[in-house]
Amino acid sequence: LTATANVLDRDALRVEVRGFLAEERGRRAWEPRCDCWLGGYDPDFSRRLGERGWIGMTFPRVYGGAEADGLARFTVVEELLAAGAPVAAHWLSDRQVGPALLRYGSEEQRREHLPPIVRGERFFAVAMSEPDTGSDLASARTRAAEVAGGWRLEGTKIWVSGAHHASHCVVLARTSPRREDRRHDGLSQFIVPLDADGVEVRPIRLLSGEHHFNEIILDGAVLDHGAVLGRVGEGWRQVTGELVYERSGPERFLSTFPLLVASVGELRRTGAAGSEAAIGALLARLWTLRQMSGDVAERLAAGEEPNLEAALVKDMGTRFEGESIEALRAVLPSGEVDPDSEDEWGRLLAEAVLHSPGFTLRGGTNEILRGIIAREIEVR
Ligand SMILES: Cc1cc2nc3c(=O)[nH]c(=O)nc-3n(C[C@H](O)[C@H](O)[C@H](O)COP(=O)(O)OP(=O)(O)OC[C@H]3O[C@@H](n4cnc5c(N)ncnc54)[C@H](O)[C@@H]3O)c2cc1C
Repeated sequence: LTATANVLDRDALRVEVRGFLAEERGRRAWEPRCDCWLGGYDPDFSRRLGERGWIGMTFPRVYGGAEADGLARFTVVEELLAAGAPVAAHWLSDRQVGPALLRYGSEEQRREHLPPIVRGERFFAVAMSEPDTGSDLASARTRAAEVAGGWRLEGTKIWVSGAHHASHCVVLARTSPRREDRRHDGLSQFIVPLDADGVEVRPIRLLSGEHHFNEIILDGAVLDHGAVLGRVGEGWRQVTGELVYERSGPERFLSTFPLLVASVGELRRTGAAGSEAAIGALLARLWTLRQMSGDVAERLAAGEEPNLEAALVKDMGTRFEGESIEALRAVLPSGEVDPDSEDEWGRLLAEAVLHSPGFTLRGGTNEILRGIIAREIEVR
């Protein structure tokens, strides 16, 4: 009975989200875009979602959440992504920082950060990667040294999405020297206010010229003891726990969905012959990915840690995102890729093409994920 009630609730929720999005589109509050969860920054839209209760939906009521289940969140999120809505401002706070605060944060940290996250008023970035340390995170060199009254941070982080818009960042740093035999020990997470002394955020431009990610220089920033997220030395375990959420959601196969929708419209208009098979093949893959991602969301909600399945969703989903662009270009010859294109299809195509190099890299490269998949299969 409960399962049926949940499905009905989710159907009603989907209708509500679609109504909200239609109303937003009706007044042209924003244009749909590809890769909206990283490129579509609109704090006012985030606030409007917060008013509806659609950020931090799964968080406890005491912090402003709705205590909804993971599948209700999945429903809202997939509708927002399918519409190409500008969700980037709050994306990381909703998806992983909020859950990390709930899992590892102190009561003080939760009370300080969760209510403004839920309202869509506080945006976090996440800084793990370093100039020589992306895939091999355990070799992070940013150092946090204990000093009187707290911690002093030194080091450089790179590729930090949205740090120029965020007020806070979760930083992974080494709190004790690296040991070759225990490489994953001695790492810790810190909550860093990005306006603190000794913190500098520098832009890195995408090849399209867009400012999306950043370098962060930590030059002697001093944080009090309350800035440690979770336990000192447990950073690796905490980060890898977060990555399961990061890898398996619908953002791993819907980044180019607005282009697919616009392409179908374009094909209807131009009547390109023989395109049905190509579109049908893409939709069949998309549907399979959606079932897989939904299954992972269900298992996460049940308290499981489906690492293998999450890695599969990311590997297959991000390849789908890239390959779908090529398949659509084959049936709708595009000519030049033009970010200033005046028609919607041309603009979405340019966004998809110019963002596509990052699809298989962010959140752990597909090669690394295949290593995880191989190891998990061996264990099972
Ligand atoms: C759009 C975008 C947004 C990002 N946002 C963030 C963010 O907000 N915060 C953050 O911390 N980071 C972020 N990143 C960084 C991302 O996590 C790293 O780029 C990624 O983990 C890869 O690290 P790297 O760039 O150092 O590449 P490297 O680790 O140097 O890898 C280079 C190549 O070698 C391959 N390779 C490396 N090791 C192995 C191995 N053991 N086996 C097989 N192949 C291997 C990789 O697959 C890759 O193809 C972002 C990246 C992108 C593209």
